[in-house]
This record gives sequence, structure tokens and C-alpha cells, in this order.
Amino acid sequence: MSTARPLLMIPGPIEVSPEVRDACGGAPPGHLAPGVIEAFGGSLERMRQVWLADASSQPFIVGGGGTVAMEMAAANLVAPGDRALVVVTGYFSDRMAEMLRRAGANVTRVDAAVGATPCLDEVRAAICGVKLLFATHVDTSTGVRVDAEALARLASENGVLSVFDGVCATAAERFDMKGWSADVYLTASQKAIGLPAGLALMVVSARAMEKRRSLPHAPPMYLDWLEWLPVMQAYEARRPAYFSTPPTNLILGLDIGLRQILAHGIEARFELHRRCAAAMRGAWRAMGLSLVPVSEALAAHTLSAIRFPDGVDASLVAEIGKRGVVVAGGLHPAIRSEYFRVGHMGYAATRTEMLRTTIGAIGGALLDRGRKFDLALVLDAAQETLERSVVGSD
Ligand code: PMP
Repeated sequence: MSTARPLLMIPGPIEVSPEVRDACGGAPPGHLAPGVIEAFGGSLERMRQVWLADASSQPFIVGGGGTVAMEMAAANLVAPGDRALVVVTGYFSDRMAEMLRRAGANVTRVDAAVGATPCLDEVRAAICGVKLLFATHVDTSTGVRVDAEALARLASENGVLSVFDGVCATAAERFDMKGWSADVYLTASQKAIGLPAGLALMVVSARAMEKRRSLPHAPPMYLDWLEWLPVMQAYEARRPAYFSTPPTNLILGLDIGLRQILAHGIEARFELHRRCAAAMRGAWRAMGLSLVPVSEALAAHTLSAIRFPDGVDASLVAEIGKRGVVVAGGLHPAIRSEYFRVGHMGYAATRTEMLRTTIGAIGGALLDRGRKFDLALVLDAAQETLERSVVGSD
């Protein structure tokens, strides 16, 4: 067993770059310190670039996580009785549907078999009379990615506001907020943005802000976009402001994380994740493993949800851990004990050695369980695919 710190390859939180770690790791600055104001304001500007959003859209940085960002979307967009359509692809879309119900929406679900997505025609057939459409860009419980472009365009053509949970996708899976006329794209700091957990991040369209202004009631204060708006506007104008104390260390880290993504280039970042996922999937295939997503086209680029092969059970996760790599067990209640999950996003996607170590640990644990394949060949093939794109390897 490795005595070094284990490699964290779950689908969030993830390994972060040394620069982000350094930025987050100092003595806590005040929220009105000039360095924090600059990092906050610059991060808001850079979020629009990472989200491919236009100047009229409003970014928000709020202490919390993905669930807080989801609650904010529900609390600011649902008027009592509004019809909301939820495209359900796993555990997190299920959570969104329940939140919307609690927020007073009349919820219609469009479900799919585990590992699949509902087809667009089913969503189209259900959209009449709907005010809001919600989808999980990548559902972390199934590793399934929806066609966010098709859904956002369908919503916009029908005058419906669209909200996408990008917690396991933003900055890794292509999302063109402006080009697709999407209304809210939300995420958390601990995934492909490349920070520790603790920030809810979202960009909101002018149409969605208008919907908040038209609500007949005010949302709970902490969730209310209109409470946060003056704070975001002040920071973007490089002025201090206060509504609720932000996690200042994380704000310094966010500045670095977003700069690193943009220095790489956002389209290059999407391509990196595509290539990295192709290499990882090639390795799983060569080890005789199959994925939860029912087709390659639906498989996310940020994580792999992998079925245990015959004769192997969930104790494999601990065996992989003993080899120095932390992977995650199953999450979707219908198949929880049948699969495990491996994250390959953000900083790790740029580090060939981390990806190789992960494949090596999983392969080694499977060989111990009597599976038959040539691990050296698997690693060589993965390396070849990774070398075609991965930056920063050494
Ligand atoms: N949505 C998705 C797709 C997620 O993967 C997660 C977290 N794994 C969440 C929402 C909730 O985020 P958090 O745990 O930060 O509240």
C-alpha cells in the first residue's frame, strides 16, 4: 500500500493545480482587501468567457456548492404553479425535480432508462405550456451527458427558460450559453473549475433575471439573486461590497483556476477532456469493462461510470484504494452496487501520470481478481491517445 497521499480520482472534489492550492492556502484575507476585490471582479469577468456568455448575462459567485446553486435557480425562477419540465438522467436530475416541487412548481418529468437520455421528441411533446426546462448536463450518478445544445434551442424556440446543472460539466464539456440561448448554467467549484469545494457559481441570462423580478414573492434572502446583484456589480466595478461573507481563500483560488482554464483556451479545454475521455474509455474497453451510459455518444467526458465485470463486486473500490487511487462507488439507487465511478476532469486531465496511475491501479486490482488482459498494452495504448493532446505531462 502506498504511503503517499492517495490520488483523488472521484468525480469531485478533484485534484487541484499547485497554483490553485497555493492561492487558497494562505492566511485568510478580509473580503474588502484589494487583492480579494480584484480576484472577485476578475473572476466574474472570466466566468462569462468560460461560460461563453454575453455581456448582458450576470455571473454570481456565492459561498455554497452545487446544491445551493440548484436551489437558487429554483427559488428565483419558479412562480407558484409554473409548469417545469425536468429531463431526468439520474440522481441529480431527480434532486432538481424534488427541489422544483418544493419551490411550488408543477413538475413534469421526462425520464429515461438508467444510462440513457430521453429522446428530444419526448421532450418536445411535453413542452407545451411549460415555463422552465431543467436538465443535468452531465449526471454524475450515471456518467450520461445530455444534448444541451438541442435542449437549450428547443426551450428558446418555445419561449421557455432553460436551466442546466453543469456541476460535473462546466469548463470541460462544451457549453455555449450565448450561442444556444441558454438561461442559467450553474456549477460548483470542486469539479472541472479546479478548486476545493465551497463555491456556487452560475451565470444568469437577462431573461432569467427578468423572471426573478416578476416573481410575486421574494425568495429566501440567501438564495435571492437580487440580494447578491449589487454585490456582484460592485466587485465587477472593483468596489468593495457586503451581503454575506464570501470564502475569501476560495475567491483567490477561483481567480487562478479560471485564469489557468483561459490560458489553456476554453475550446482547447473542451477538446482536452474529449481526448482524455477517449483514452480512458479505450483502457476500460481493453480491460473488458463496459460503461453505464448505453452508448459512447452519451458518455460524459468528465467521468467514467463503469460496470463491475462478472465475478467482481463493490469491494474492488477498496482494492483500488489500496493501490493509492481513490475512486467512487455507485450512486444511482437502481444500480448502486453494480458500478463504480472515476473522475478525469480539470487538473488531472492535464496530467498524464495521474491518468496512467489510475488506469494502473484499476487494472492491477482487476488482475488480482482473475481478470485477463495485458496491462502494459492497455497503458501503452492510453499513453498514445493521451500524448496526442495532454498538456503539462512530464
Ligand atoms: N449536480 C451534479 C451533477 C453533481 O455532480 C453534484 C455533486 N456531485 C451536485 C449537483 C451537488 O453539488 P454539491 O455536492 O456541491 O452540493
